[in-house]
Amino acid sequence: MSQNILVINAGSSSLKFSLFDMKQQTETASGLAERLGSDEAALTVKWPGGQTSQALPDSAYGSVLTLSIAVLTQQQLLERLPLVIGHRVVHGGEFFTDPVIITDAVIDRIRRCIPLAPLHNPANLAGIEALAALYPDIAQVAVFDTAFHQSLPAKAFLYAVPYRLYEQHQVRRYGFHGVSHQYVAAEAAARLGISAQHGIISAHLGNGCSACAVANGQSMDTTMGMTPLEGLVMGTRSGDVDPGLHQFLQQQEGWDLDTVTNMLNKESGMLGLSGLSNDMRTLEAAANEGVERAQLALAVFCFRLARHIGGLATSLRQFDALVFTGGIGENSGFIRSKVVENLAIFGFALDPDLNAQNGNAGGLISTGPGPRVMVVNTKEELMIARAALALI
Ligand code: AMP
Repeated sequence: MSQNILVINAGSSSLKFSLFDMKQQTETASGLAERLGSDEAALTVKWPGGQTSQALPDSAYGSVLTLSIAVLTQQQLLERLPLVIGHRVVHGGEFFTDPVIITDAVIDRIRRCIPLAPLHNPANLAGIEALAALYPDIAQVAVFDTAFHQSLPAKAFLYAVPYRLYEQHQVRRYGFHGVSHQYVAAEAAARLGISAQHGIISAHLGNGCSACAVANGQSMDTTMGMTPLEGLVMGTRSGDVDPGLHQFLQQQEGWDLDTVTNMLNKESGMLGLSGLSNDMRTLEAAANEGVERAQLALAVFCFRLARHIGGLATSLRQFDALVFTGGIGENSGFIRSKVVENLAIFGFALDPDLNAQNGNAGGLISTGPGPRVMVVNTKEELMIARAALALI
């Protein structure tokens, strides 16, 4: 008998789902509804050996999920109802340090975090409400992107702005990608046989990028901040800029705050620097062909990441391993080698062959006595499914 768990990741204009059979610990199907709210809204559902795509006449989460479930049923992928539904929820503020079963009180708290994540939390709530309507008797669990970082000490999470803003509005660093950092750091520590005591820096490099210092399983510092805009250079997000930039652009370009914020989130990062693309594969290919702005964007990306890794080491008492994950971290030997090159001070000994192969069986891409360098494939959806199963 299969043990179905449905994992939902509801964004502002997309909805992703994964269906797991936890008996086998395998993904039975996954789906992506994209460009929701537009005329091009479409749903693609994939399973081993097949896939189907269709237009979505109605972008409401309830309709998208009903259709997704109909496809799963039709393909005989969902012969029995899910045991539990896991939701990725972006912002849990200071309320949540662990995954929780969703109750009215939890929904209220996720709602109270909306000012901190005005695009994401309403979408997460809409996903939760749509599934509660479809499956009123099935438990739902929320797994928060911020929860793992609630162990940050005050010296790492406070911004140097008037303290009242923290007390009154909880202005502070929260950090994101927590499920991924927690998983890859634990996996790296287990593979190195240092689960009890370790110092690890994980770099999650995908469309969004963040890095995290993990000491003995606890997040000590991370690069993303109150929002996912802070820190590293990302696909279209700037990462750190001088906070004085806002006023400068208002004076020079006549932009209001919304325009600046939109530029920093959607037109910056690798796309803004290269003027070409936010996609790392495209940029690496262009750099290889000699396109200077692509080369420059890659150099800034790698230097900024290295600079942050150096800063994160401040939070560790020992530095055992640097771990790469995410679409870029898992696949780009070029980015990994450039980052390590920028970090010569730590004495990493990258093995070029292992790096080119994205790691050996244990994920190692280095040799020698210094801190190890590893590639660990992240499994955020599976981690959410496991957390949901553990709670019921
Ligand atoms: P994610 O958000 O984790 O799916 O990662 C997406 C990013 O990973 C995009 O920038 C992709 O270009 C990048 N990526 C995926 N495969 C590769 C690869 N083989 N080399 C370089 N970048 C890659």
